[in-house]
Amino acid sequence: MSQTDAAEKVALVTGGSRGIGRAVVLRLAADGYDIGFCYRSDEQSAALVEKEVRELGRRVLSRRVDVADGTQVREFVTAAEDELGPAGAAVTSAGITRDSPLVLMEDENWDAVVRTNLDGTYHLCRAVTFPMIRRGGGAVVTLSSVAGVAGNAGQTNYSASKAGIIGFTRSFAKEGGRHGIRANAVAPGFIDTDMTSALPPKVSKEMLGRIPLKRFGQPEDVASLVSFLVSPEASYITGQVFQVDGGIAL
Ligand code: NAP
Repeated sequence: MSQTDAAEKVALVTGGSRGIGRAVVLRLAADGYDIGFCYRSDEQSAALVEKEVRELGRRVLSRRVDVADGTQVREFVTAAEDELGPAGAAVTSAGITRDSPLVLMEDENWDAVVRTNLDGTYHLCRAVTFPMIRRGGGAVVTLSSVAGVAGNAGQTNYSASKAGIIGFTRSFAKEGGRHGIRANAVAPGFIDTDMTSALPPKVSKEMLGRIPLKRFGQPEDVASLVSFLVSPEASYITGQVFQVDGGIAL
């Protein structure tokens, strides 16, 4: 077990205002973590999450940050650690889709997805690495997707970003191990959030038919795995990709 697993109870979460990130924030707060989270623009949702964390008896700091911007992410990490103390856990949940067949892909939609999902993951992990090394370790969980494992027609940009996150996470695990840093990726299938509610009903219905467990996942289904992965219970697990998908990828 790393020193950090046992001692630190501060977690940083990107995209913590809605969906999976929000569920992770609330689950880790319930686990006893003080929380620093960031979001892009929805201040109302962020304020609600802050209130919920306080009601769980934990301290919280939220910042409006574009994870595609490394400077903003570094400032967020510094502000959160100054306020809450050194982070022992970091979770990268901020992500977007801009779906399109490759033949019609707009460069700006390629760039936005890769910069938010992949660069955003790099920016948070880069910012927490040295502080985690200094304190003897930490646990990082990145949000990939089954689309990053298996690919998905209409999502070349998204799948590329999510596959990139897997390579990044495995490499980070290899580098970080000697410093007590564990890094794992979670690859959700179809989870019921604002991201998936934008899909046409025909696509959702077709997806449901392919899920052996016959239901869409809930954000809490992902948060419970993240909670385990950052905990001392997972102290010998690193560099892995865990699918939370109701069996859709079988
Ligand atoms: P969501 O409900 O759309 O929430 C996205 C969150 O990310 C929001 O808090 C949003 O902030 C934040 N965000 C987006 N762009 C950002 C940026 N540039 N900088 C900072 N924050 C940003 O998404 P979700 O469904 O919870 O997805 C969370 C993660 O899981 C994503 O990485 C997604 O790719 C992955 N995932 C989701 C599913 C699924 O079925 N839902 C499946 C596989 C993987 P604002 O509210 O301010 O916009």
